[in-house]
Amino acid sequence: MPIDATLPYDDSNIFARILRGELPCQKVYEDEHALAFHDINPQAPLHILVIPKAAYVSWDDFSERGSAEEIAGFVRAVGKVARDQGLVAPGYRLLANVGFDSHQEVPHLHVHIFAGRPLGPMLA
Ligand code: AMP
Repeated sequence: MPIDATLPYDDSNIFARILRGELPCQKVYEDEHALAFHDINPQAPLHILVIPKAAYVSWDDFSERGSAEEIAGFVRAVGKVARDQGLVAPGYRLLANVGFDSHQEVPHLHVHIFAGRPLGPMLA
C-alpha cells in the first residue's frame, strides 16, 4: 500500500527495523550517514536501495529537515555506491518515490539504484 508522506515518521517501518539490526539485509555499503542493500524484489539486474541512517519519511522530509552534513553525506554515499559497483561507464538510474501517487511503500527515505541493462527512456 502506498503511504502518505505527510505523516510523522513511524519507526516500526521495515527499513528502520533493518537499521536496528532486527531484520537482515544484503548489505552493499555502510557509513555514518547511509546504508545500502539489495532490493528484495529487484526490478533490474542490479537494484540497490540506499537509505539514510537517520529517520526521514521521504525525500521531501529529508530535504526540509536534514542537516547540510546529513544531506551531503547521503548524496555522496549514493554516488560512491554506484562508483564502487562500476556503474558510471555503463550508466544507471536513480529514483526516489515520495508519497501516494508515486507508490512509495516504505515510509523511510530510500533512493533506488537501477542498473545492469539498458533501462530505456524514463517512464512518467
Ligand atoms: P518504494 O515503492 O519506493 O517504497 O520501494 C520500496 C522497495 O523496498 C521495493 O522495491 C521493495 O522491493 C523493497 N523492499 C521491501 N522490503 C524489503 C526488504 N526487507 N529488503 C530489501 N528491500 C525491500
